[in-house]
Amino acid sequence: MNFEIISVGTELLLGQIVNTNAQVISRMLSELGYNVYYTTVVGDNPDRLQSALELAAGRADGIITTGGLGPTGDDLTKETIAHYCGKKCIMHEESKRRIEERFASQGQYMPKSNLKQAEMPEGCIVLQNDHGTAPGAIIETEKNIFIMLPGPPSEMRPMLLEQVRPYLEKRADCIIYSESLRIFGVGESAAEEKLKTIIDRQTNPTIAPYAKTGEMELRLTAKASDTQQAKKMLQPLETEVRNILGDFIYAKGENASLEKTVVDLLRTSGKTAATAESCTGGLVAKKITDIPGASACFPCGMITYSNEQKQALLGVTAETLAAHGAVSSQTALEMCRGVREKTGADIGIGITGIAGPDGGTDEKPVGLVYIGICAEGVHRAFRFYLAGDRNMIRERASLYALDIIRR
Ligand code: ATP
Ligand code: MG
Repeated sequence: MNFEIISVGTELLLGQIVNTNAQVISRMLSELGYNVYYTTVVGDNPDRLQSALELAAGRADGIITTGGLGPTGDDLTKETIAHYCGKKCIMHEESKRRIEERFASQGQYMPKSNLKQAEMPEGCIVLQNDHGTAPGAIIETEKNIFIMLPGPPSEMRPMLLEQVRPYLEKRADCIIYSESLRIFGVGESAAEEKLKTIIDRQTNPTIAPYAKTGEMELRLTAKASDTQQAKKMLQPLETEVRNILGDFIYAKGENASLEKTVVDLLRTSGKTAATAESCTGGLVAKKITDIPGASACFPCGMITYSNEQKQALLGVTAETLAAHGAVSSQTALEMCRGVREKTGADIGIGITGIAGPDGGTDEKPVGLVYIGICAEGVHRAFRFYLAGDRNMIRERASLYALDIIRR
């Protein structure tokens, strides 16, 4: 069974709002194992809605629409679909009562036009709206299922997840289940090359890399009769991927992040880390302190932007600055040692670089970043040539710093 989504609304065509409804619906359908081959956006225009509908009904089994269930003259989705299915819209007493109650409970006068929302296509399944006035509807015909949902996401979402999802789950013959592995330190094409043999032979389960800012997500997906079976199918694939990518995989799960991994690691090992940042301007400290519970493992982050303060606060020497410059491995090494000694943290991190757009030279181009780490038995600096604009370079540098702490 395959589905098509029709998002109705002129605001969508004008670019005034983003089509988040289609995203939420597509995602749910794919989780249930339904294919979506097309999604359409159409304005509040009955003729164009009619032709979008005819096209969709001809090529898809199920059609889900959002929008156009409101009380005003341009809300025509329900009427157009009912007409297409050869059904009349008749007053649905239960919905009428609910709409009247909703207005009464808010102490508001109900405009007559709102009653139009309680007129439902005859024989349809009515989807109750607990967050607004317009009920949704499902019409089943011999060839198609039409599911009509309201436009406002705060109404659409609960109706979709609480009523449409169970309805569709009963009809689905398989589910699609995905797990995501989070990867840092290896580019998308390099990872794809490493995984080529797996990617080439894949059918079910499948594996797909997605590039995110500075990092990568690897999505492993299985089609199966239930989640349990899907998880079983993914296990050997995950092991195989882990054998190939090893330490580049820093976590599993969609909500994972490098900073969360770092905080978790520090907390479980009972260690603390402190940072001295120059070109990243506190970004590493910001990321770490974004994670609840960071106070247990992150005592201090310094932003030492000038040479004077690198000397005064971190003990970077004038000789080092004169001989090698502020952007050098020597300075990064002294910064991380300085912040470690100053704060008594187990791990000190020092970051210095050229984020641009100005300040680069042939010898030290924009994007050159040194990250130093100082810990028990470790005192070394890493050099990076990072691509992108100022923001990108700072973002990437801060991710590398987190990655260095993690390793
Ligand atoms: P209403 O009773 O508010 O008129 P409706 O079911 O007729 O509801 P629309 O008029 O099409 O829906 O949209 C109402 C509002 O819902 C829009 O102004 C917009 O903010 C939001 N909305 C509509 N469609 C989408 C969509 N596809 N994605 C995200 N938001 C949407
Ligand atoms: Mg409307």
